Amino acid sequence: MSADRFDVVIVGGGPGGYIGAIRAAQLGFKTACIEKSDTLGGTCVNVGCIPSKALLYSTELFAMAEHKFSKHGIKLSGVELDLPTMMKRKESVVRQNTNGVSFLFKKNKIEWIKGEASFSGPKELKVKGADGERTVTADHIVIATGSEPVQLPPLPFDGKHVISSTEALALEKVPEHLVVVGGGVIGLELGSVWKRLGAKVTVIEFMPDILATMDKDVGKEMKKILSKQGFDFKLGAKVTGSKVKGKKVTVEFEDKDGNKDSVECDVVLAAVGRRPYTAGLGLDKVGVETDKAGRIKIDNRFRTNVEGVYAIGDVVEGPMLAHKAEEEGVVLAELLAGQAGHVNHETIPGIVYTWPEVGAVGISEQQAKERGLNVKIGKVPFMANGRARASDDVDGFVKVIADAKTDRVLGVHIVGPQASELISECVTVMEFAGSSEDIGRIVHGHPTLSETVKEAALAVDKRTLNF
Ligand code: FAD
Repeated sequence: MSADRFDVVIVGGGPGGYIGAIRAAQLGFKTACIEKSDTLGGTCVNVGCIPSKALLYSTELFAMAEHKFSKHGIKLSGVELDLPTMMKRKESVVRQNTNGVSFLFKKNKIEWIKGEASFSGPKELKVKGADGERTVTADHIVIATGSEPVQLPPLPFDGKHVISSTEALALEKVPEHLVVVGGGVIGLELGSVWKRLGAKVTVIEFMPDILATMDKDVGKEMKKILSKQGFDFKLGAKVTGSKVKGKKVTVEFEDKDGNKDSVECDVVLAAVGRRPYTAGLGLDKVGVETDKAGRIKIDNRFRTNVEGVYAIGDVVEGPMLAHKAEEEGVVLAELLAGQAGHVNHETIPGIVYTWPEVGAVGISEQQAKERGLNVKIGKVPFMANGRARASDDVDGFVKVIADAKTDRVLGVHIVGPQASELISECVTVMEFAGSSEDIGRIVHGHPTLSETVKEAALAVDKRTLNF
C-alpha cells in the first residue's frame, strides 16, 4: 500500500490540532488532521469548554428565575426544570461547534483522516479507521492528542456513581447529593451546574483552599461566595476510599491530622486534574521522550527529540487550556513556515465560569513573594461599582499587582461578574508591557464593570476616585 504524503499531519482534532491545521493550511502547507472520534473539536468542543458553558448559562438562568427575579419585582410561579430540553440544547450547541470545525476544514482544504494514528516510523503514521488502515507520511508530524481525566485509586470510575467530567455533563437526573472531589476549575463549574438545579453539593479538596493554584484571595473569596450559594466544603481532606452500595456511594476521607470521616451521596464527580493522553500512539517505536508526568518533552519551538515530530496543547507542559493549545498550534505552523513566534506563558488568562466568574492573568501575590519581587497592590471591590450595584452583582473584587519600581502590571486577579471578559483588557495591557498607570489613565465607559479594573489600577498608587 502506498503512503499518502502531506507537508504537515496533525494527530488530534482538538483546539490545538484543528487551529494548528487551519494556520498550516493558510500558510500553504498540504495539511491533514487525524482524529479518531466521530466529531472534530476534541475535548474542548465535545466534552469540555463548550458543553460546560452551555449548561452553566442555562442553569444560571434557572437560578436567576428561582432566586433573583423576585428582587427585581418580577413575579414568577411554577418555575420548573426540564432537564432533557436543557441537555438537548447543550447537545445542539456542541453540534453547531463540531460542524463548524468540519466546515473550516473544507474551507481551508484540510483533509480529516478519520481513525486512530500510531507511529510506524519517524515520519510515518498508520491510521486505523472504520474503512481499514491507511499509511500517511509527512515532513512534519504534530502530536496534539490532548489529555484525559486523572483517576484516583480510591475512586475508580464506574461511569454511573463515580464519574468524570464527561458523565457529569450528561446526567439524566439531578443528583440529590453530589460529592465533587477536587476544588479546582472543573469541579467548581460542574458543581455549580448541579447545585443550581437543586443538588446538595459537597466539595472535598486536598489543599487548604479551593482554586489552590490561583491567588489566595481568589480562593478565599470564592469559598465565601459559593458557601453562601449553599456549597459545603471539606478542605484539607484526603479521600482514602469509596464504597458503592445500591444507589449510594460512601466517600471516605481524612483530615490533615488523620481524623477519619465519610460522606454518603448518590454521585461522586472526581475532578482532580487531567493527564496527557498518548495511549496507542506508539511513541516508543520512534523514541519520542516524555517526562515523569507523561508530557511529551519539547523545546521552545515545540520540537520533540525526534526530528520532524512536534507536540502542542494539553499533551505538553503548561496550563491545560484550549486557548493555550490554539495559540501553540498557530505559532508552530508559523515557525514551520519560517516565521518567528512564541507563546507568552506569562499572559495566558485563566478563567472559572462560576457565578461570579474568576478571571486571572500573570503572577499571584504569593508568586511575587516567592520570586522575591517588590510589588504594589491595588484591590477594589465590585460593591464600589455603580453598574455592579445596578445589576445586583456586587460580590468580588479586582486586584492589580504591579512592580513597585517600574509600575509594570505583573498580574490581575478578578472575582466578579463578567470576569471572563474583563480580564482581556488586563491581558492586552500586560502583552504591551503596560503599567497600572496606563490602565488608570485609559477612559473606561460609564457605568461599566470595567471601571473596577481602572479603580483597582488607580488603587496601586492609592489614588482611587470612587472607593
Ligand atoms: P484535546 O482537545 O483533548 O484534543 C485531542 C484530540 O486528539 C481528541 O479529540 C482525541 O480524540 C484525539 N486523539 C488522541 N489520540 C489520538 C490518536 N492516536 N489518533 C487520532 N486522534 C487521537 N479549557 C479552556 O480553555 N476553557 C474552558 O472553559 C475549559 N473548560 C473545560 C471543561 C471541561 C469539563 C474539561 C474536561 C476541559 C475544559 N477545558 C477548558 C480544557 C480544554 O478542553 C483543553 O485544554 C483542550 O481541549 C486541549 O486541547 P488539545 O487540542 O490539546 O487536546
